[in-house]
Amino acid sequence: MSGTLYLVATPIGNLGDFSPRALETLEAADFIAAEDTRVSLKLLNHFGVKKPLVSYHQHNQASAGQTILSRLLAGESCALVTDAGTPAVSDPGEDLVRLCAQNGVAVQAIPGCCALVSALAVSGLPTGRFAFEGFLPVNKKERRARLQPLRTEERTMIFYEAPHKLVNTLEDLLEALGDRPAALCRELAVPCYLLGNGSNILFGDKGYAGAVINLTGMKGEVRRKGDTLTAPAGMPLNALCMAALHAGLTGLEFAYGIPGTVGGAVYMNAGAYGGEMKDVLLSVRYLTAEGQIEEAPAAALDLGYRHSIFESNGGCILSAAVGLAPGDPGAIAARMNDLMGRRRDKQPLDKPSAGSTFKRPVGAFAGALIEQCGLRGHRHGGAAISEKHCGFVVNLGGATCADVLALCAEVQKIVKDQTGFALEKEIRVVEL
Ligand SMILES: Cc1cc2nc3c(=O)[nH]c(=O)nc-3n(C[C@H](O)[C@H](O)[C@H](O)COP(=O)(O)OP(=O)(O)OC[C@H]3O[C@@H](n4cnc5c(N)ncnc54)[C@H](O)[C@@H]3O)c2cc1C
Repeated sequence: MSGTLYLVATPIGNLGDFSPRALETLEAADFIAAEDTRVSLKLLNHFGVKKPLVSYHQHNQASAGQTILSRLLAGESCALVTDAGTPAVSDPGEDLVRLCAQNGVAVQAIPGCCALVSALAVSGLPTGRFAFEGFLPVNKKERRARLQPLRTEERTMIFYEAPHKLVNTLEDLLEALGDRPAALCRELAVPCYLLGNGSNILFGDKGYAGAVINLTGMKGEVRRKGDTLTAPAGMPLNALCMAALHAGLTGLEFAYGIPGTVGGAVYMNAGAYGGEMKDVLLSVRYLTAEGQIEEAPAAALDLGYRHSIFESNGGCILSAAVGLAPGDPGAIAARMNDLMGRRRDKQPLDKPSAGSTFKRPVGAFAGALIEQCGLRGHRHGGAAISEKHCGFVVNLGGATCADVLALCAEVQKIVKDQTGFALEKEIRVVEL
């Protein structure tokens, strides 16, 4: 009796999407046929699966297909996998399935990720009727010829494209299909985290199962127009403060010494010594979660105490414009130096921390409340309430995220019990 060909769907970016049944199938199969054995080996190693791998791809599908078929006919079972997603859809697995059908070999699907279905579901376009067009031909003339008959297609159409060919393909799609609603979908299973300088962030001990986008690369020049300075989001906030000083513009001195980027400062509405970004911010340019570049005045950003609209809208700040006033460079420099000096005197800048751990509760200061409760130097593992400033949890060496969170929870409880104030964390904890 012949064996079975299993079509095993593999993750499209998030290993957590691999189903227990898919894993069991790989473990039980006699051998695995993979589009790219190097890619599949990483998946197998991750899940501790040890199985013979054979290659099956578009350049060897005729001969490899026959070999796999012979083994199936001899009673072996084979799991077919692609680099990512459901095999046999828009890949040579289609031929192998046909061969099996023609030769009476059972084929069983082990469902899971499928990029086209995920893209369709999140697109916001009609999903009731759709047409899957897969990859278009690479050759421009052939690509345009393929698009011609689709001019009158009314169903939602799904195309696949490689990132480096995207712009050309989009131009051809616009020309052939006209200006109609479209959705560009990528990294469908990969959560993204926008990271500025990371000054306010505590990452979980298990890391982050997704893509962390480092925005400090968004650098460039500060542009001046009158008393307005515009800076790219990835620029260090201190660099913008220095640019204001050199331009003889006052208003941003409060921000000197706040670690982080311009984008992070806008997102957090960072502030110190009586000033906050809200006081000087005029407008921001940002990339919306839907991929549009937009400009918004500061008044539309819901700026409040360590809060902005970006906490909920998922936008990526690209640049920020601040409105300042002409001032005496000597006085500006003196104020900046004074504030930096006060930071050095009061804050535990010699030890790693994510800044003030708790928000300032109305009517009190978090550090003073913690000190009042006798928690100066209080420890949990490598994390401790700073001896220098009780508002900071510092890493004395080897502190884990769990240590910091346990310490925070303990401090919150003690402060609440003893003073009645509920402390809310200011640091952002990123766990997934
Ligand atoms: C020693 C120390 C002192 C500090 N003192 C102060 C202080 O006086 N006042 C104060 O307000 N803060 C202070 N902080 C906290 C921190 O410096 C600020 O919150 C700062 O604004 C964070 O900027 P960042 O670039 O490091 O942002 P990150 O910490 O990387 O990110 C903060 C948040 O902003 C988001 N984000 C960052 N960039 C962008 C972007 N371009 N688009 C969209 N979202 C983005 C992130 O996703 C995250 O949610 C201090 C921190 C330390 C370590």
